[in-house]
Amino acid sequence: GKQFPLAMNPNDPGWDNLMSTAPGPRMNATFVTLARNSDVYDIAKSIRQVEDRFNRRYNYDWVFLNDKPFDDTFKKVTSSLASGKTHYGLIPKEHWSYPEWIDRDRAKKVREDMKARKIIYGDSVSYRHMCRYESGFFFRHPLMLNYEYYWRVEPSIELFCDVHYDPFRVLVEEDKKYSFVLSLYEYGETIKTLWDSTKKFMKNHPEHIAPDNSLEFLSDDDGETYNNCHFWSNFEIGSLDWLRSKSYIDFFESLDKDGGFFYERWGDAPVHSIAAGLLLKKDEIKFFNDIAYYHVPFTHCPTGEQTRLDLRCHCNPKDNFDWKTYSCTSRYFDLNGLKKPEGHDSEHK
Ligand code: GDP
Ligand code: MN
Repeated sequence: GKQFPLAMNPNDPGWDNLMSTAPGPRMNATFVTLARNSDVYDIAKSIRQVEDRFNRRYNYDWVFLNDKPFDDTFKKVTSSLASGKTHYGLIPKEHWSYPEWIDRDRAKKVREDMKARKIIYGDSVSYRHMCRYESGFFFRHPLMLNYEYYWRVEPSIELFCDVHYDPFRVLVEEDKKYSFVLSLYEYGETIKTLWDSTKKFMKNHPEHIAPDNSLEFLSDDDGETYNNCHFWSNFEIGSLDWLRSKSYIDFFESLDKDGGFFYERWGDAPVHSIAAGLLLKKDEIKFFNDIAYYHVPFTHCPTGEQTRLDLRCHCNPKDNFDWKTYSCTSRYFDLNGLKKPEGHDSEHK
């Protein structure tokens, strides 16, 4: 750490060294992508951007996970683009199927009802397995067990700015467990009883609730109801050891027993976010303003002009979602007493 300090600003030594492999230590970390074979060209776009903007200088590994075996095309295309080692994992059947306590007829009726009400992904079985897998299992896949940190990447995302420093190392050195770039309100119809289950967990496991937590991010009435705020989990950089901790596993298993992954359509974003908000100290959650990101339909673009020029960004700051009314990021800043970035009040709302 001492010999190669993180270059966080244009005046720091090493900032301009963009052409070569970044000096300094590497963390025990990997990219992780859950994908189908048919996602190959959409994930290829994402990998190309992550490599161009960051990983070609760091060469972190990349783990791909799938409920079906990856085909040769998927492996060839992705391994040709990734600069680190690539690993391809098959998800064990028991992590991608109904647990024995789930009543499948009841789950089917819910899907039919949600389909009639045109709730997005409401009729999908695979989407529910995906959300449950991302909530409770990806960090326990054998290929993930050797790593301490992960960066989740989905198909068809964009990175708009250079990432000059190693975000994994930022997490390690700042002792952060979870990070985000976009936050918003969840669609309430998909998580009707998620907060009831959360309250039950809080009652049964007070020992897991962090004293200096972010309950205020999640609730406007001191925990009585959920305000639906969550960190958008298609982008995450976080600690695998935290997800594998007893507190997180107890939380996941308690929710899983209540069945809402199938009887409703609980997303991994609110599940991870509620866990981060309650089980972590508030200063263990990080917002990466410097990592400019798009996943349909939202953009995080730094509002400070100098930041965008320094980082060679190609996003339009007017598209930045952070300070619009449907974002929850203001709450995160207020709760943590953080100063909002330059330009946050000068954009079109
Ligand atoms: P959205 O972002 O909520 O619209 O959902 P996505 O379709 O992007 O799915 C989230 C992630 O899970 C992406 O990385 C997908 O590639 C992956 N995914 C979704 N469904 C499946 C599935 O049935 N099998 C596999 N292997 N991956 C899936
Ligand atoms: Mn997606």
